[in-house]
Amino acid sequence: MNTNLKAGTTKNRLAYPMDQIKEMLRPCIQCGTCTASCPNAFAMDHTPRKLWRLVQADMIDEVFKSKTFILCSSCYYCTLRCPRGLPLTRAMGLLTQMAQTQNPEPFKKSHRFYQEFIQSVRRHGRVNETEFMSLFFLSMKSPVLPFEYASLGIKLMQKKKVSIPNLNIWKKDRNGLGKIFNKIREIEEQA
Ligand code: SF4
Ligand code: SF4
Repeated sequence: MNTNLKAGTTKNRLAYPMDQIKEMLRPCIQCGTCTASCPNAFAMDHTPRKLWRLVQADMIDEVFKSKTFILCSSCYYCTLRCPRGLPLTRAMGLLTQMAQTQNPEPFKKSHRFYQEFIQSVRRHGRVNETEFMSLFFLSMKSPVLPFEYASLGIKLMQKKKVSIPNLNIWKKDRNGLGKIFNKIREIEEQA
């Protein structure tokens, strides 16, 4: 990523979020609790603690070369356990948004996958694998994409991990679930 993204270059439309993230992380004492809590840290090139240090040190190129924020699954465990009460999941999300704004193409697939997954959970209370994957393939508009997932799909079906759509799920009342999603959005916006 271009070094011109550094906070402080006023023309840069990403400067404000970077300033915001740096401000969020300023009280970090580098205790490492976030790293120790993160279920995905083993796969990250920089641990969450190290990523926050890079942000504090204004090493923006290093931050955006990292895959750490992309691998964040928003489980909120680090946020809950941080002794300084920092909004770490929100910071990860903002870094992803910034990277996505600057260069959307590499994020297209994972973004659509996430969107269809969460919409399926919202509609049914749990993911409906067949519907969700069908909508994901349609949204990607790629006729070859389903073949990339074919062998995984077959394995999951053999293990009975993928269900055939149950049309009755459309009839259930989803108001309660919708309220939960709205509440989560409200909390996220305040974080
Ligand atoms: S848990 Fe909080 S204070 Fe500790 S390293 Fe992580 S962000 Fe910093
Ligand atoms: S919210 Fe992201 S960074 Fe924090 S513990 Fe969960 S996966 Fe790790």
